[in-house]
Order: sequence, then structure tokens, then C-alpha cells
Amino acid sequence: MTDDSKFCTGCGRGLEPGMQFCPQCGRVVSGSETEEEYRQKASEMREILAESRLNWVIFALAIYAIPTTIAGMLLLADAGAMADTIWSNTDFQNWVISHDYNITVDSVKNYITIVASLCLASGVCALVSMACVLKRRMWKVAVIACAAASVLCCWSLFGVFIGFLMTWFVFSLKDMFSS
Ligand SMILES: [Zn+2]
Repeated sequence: MTDDSKFCTGCGRGLEPGMQFCPQCGRVVSGSETEEEYRQKASEMREILAESRLNWVIFALAIYAIPTTIAGMLLLADAGAMADTIWSNTDFQNWVISHDYNITVDSVKNYITIVASLCLASGVCALVSMACVLKRRMWKVAVIACAAASVLCCWSLFGVFIGFLMTWFVFSLKDMFSS
């Protein structure tokens, strides 16, 4: 007899046809319906898990991308007025004078413009990544956009850390993307 399903792969006990478990050691008989079912259930579970991780990634990207993009746009549009407001603040004036900083209203505006641009660029990259994950297309673009969003988030070290964590998550889900 060469058919290995007639013997338990665990303990070697002879098995009757149709047995799904070895009566001696309890091992699932290979090729039995139970094993097939078990395999299918396990793969279904993995898929459900990956699906929920995918949704979580979309949610996390949206939570970051949408406010960051909007804030970046608003800051950029309002940089001049904002610089004026900060500049006219007496506490700010005193702070500049006490530290002997060489700051002008234009340098405040430039600073706001740079931060706003980084914000906007980072937000847009995160949006691109989110769109790819949402459509499950172009996982490489999703990973690169997510990494770019992280780097552009350089005004916050915490943001960079979370960003790269997200990038790794997106990468780990690449099998869920259609090629
Ligand atoms: Zn056995």
C-alpha cells in the first residue's frame, strides 16, 4: 500500500477509509474533508484580517491626509495675514527683542509658507496613497507616496515615525492589491 492517507502521518496507525481524525493521536487525516474545510476557513480568516487591516490603513490615511491638505491650503492662502497677526503680537515682539533674533515680518511669512507647503505636499501624498489603497491599484505608488508623505512631515518627528509605520503597513498589504 503506497497511499499514505491509509496511515496516520502523526503516529503511523492504520486508518479506516473515511476517517477524518486518527483515533490514536487525534491528528487530522490529510486529504480528508475536515482538513480541506480547516484550510479554507484559515484562508478565509486571513483574508478577513487583511481586509480589516486594509480598511484601517485607509481610515488612518484619511484622518491624516484630509485635515493636513486643508490646513496646508488655508495656511498658504493666509500666510501674509497670519504673519501680520503674529508680528503685531507684543509677546512675540518682546520674544524677538529679548533673544536678539534677526526676524522680519517677511521671514515670519516665509516660515509659515514653508511649513504650509510641506503640510500641503505631505497631505497630497497621503491622499494619493489613500486613493491607491482604496482602489487596490499600484501598491508601489501607494508605498512611495506614503513614504513621501512621511518625509514631508519633517516638522513633526512623531509624524515621521507614524508615517513610516503606515508605509510599512501599506507594504505589508501589497498582496491585497490587483497587479
Ligand atoms: Zn495518529
